[in-house]
Amino acid sequence: MQLVNCMEAAVAAHFSEVAQRFPGACLCPRCRLDVMALALNALPPRYVVSEEGEVYARTEQLGQQYNADITIALTHAFTQVMAAPRHQKDEEEG
Ligand SMILES: [Zn+2]
Repeated sequence: MQLVNCMEAAVAAHFSEVAQRFPGACLCPRCRLDVMALALNALPPRYVVSEEGEVYARTEQLGQQYNADITIALTHAFTQVMAAPRHQKDEEEG
């Protein structure tokens, strides 16, 4: 048994799709996590107690319900991180 924020998995599932709209976005580990954190702070948490595996079905349900909200939150997050990336210079890619 584990405590899982379904919203986290749902945001992760939408990440690549939204990233494609920002070809100039840095996708280093720091910037990816900053985008995830900003998006998740803008969305309501959806904690469930879950058996291993069960979370995927719940995430799929949640993804449909919050599809638009998640896309908007990720779009805002990408815009913010691109405007002021917090990675160190030597971590920068491309
Ligand atoms: Zn970066």
